[in-house]
Amino acid sequence: MHEIALRFADIQKRLRAAALRADRRHEDVHVLAATKSRSIDQINAAIQAGVRCIGENRVQEALPKFSALLPVSKHFIGHLQSNKAKAAVERFDCIQSVDSFELAQQLDRHAGNAGKRLPILLEVNVADEAAKSGVSPDQAIPLARQIVALEHVQLQGLMAMPPYTEDPEAVRPHFRTVKALYDELGTLSGVNVRWLSMGTSQDFEVAVEEGATLVRLGTVLFGPR
Ligand SMILES: *Cc1c(COP(=O)(O)O)cnc(C)c1O
Repeated sequence: MHEIALRFADIQKRLRAAALRADRRHEDVHVLAATKSRSIDQINAAIQAGVRCIGENRVQEALPKFSALLPVSKHFIGHLQSNKAKAAVERFDCIQSVDSFELAQQLDRHAGNAGKRLPILLEVNVADEAAKSGVSPDQAIPLARQIVALEHVQLQGLMAMPPYTEDPEAVRPHFRTVKALYDELGTLSGVNVRWLSMGTSQDFEVAVEEGATLVRLGTVLFGPR
């Protein structure tokens, strides 16, 4: 078996165990393969192993790969520049990194022109880190209320990338903060929450214990970059 398939099988085992610990259904937890800097062969091996969703950080790196990939859902997980918004709307199935009303309006306009309704997530800067993009936790719900009025984007949840630490337990309170916002988001009319995108190679089991429905995995799936 391909080493990526072996790693994916091991990830599934760990996800099931984490879901069980939290009394959750493992079917409710999905894997997004974080594919920045990975080759087409590596990504296709992951898709063949059972990955149904990939995430790219840069539009210009992603687009040349797409035509050579097996069928897969394509999410954008990086910081989106205005001049790349149109191409991103046309080629991605979900934009996870929406952090302002201006960006949401731009995506709405491009999605309208492309004749589609685009799934989006709000990126939450859960620890209010100066160097990171994302909306601060206290602005997430007000921003969501503005966005639900837009016709061509569909708000489906939240994404977060908490501060990196060696100790996954240190991230747990941040995951809890984002989960609480996600639950509140789910009570707004016009919002059908589906994706709570949090947890990476370092801490995905804790993220699942705290309610993640989508974990974004790079290293643990593909090996070191
Ligand atoms: C690279 C990346 C990941 C995956 O990180 P790993 O530690 O390799 O699992 C997840 N989310 C985002 C936004 C990334 O850029």
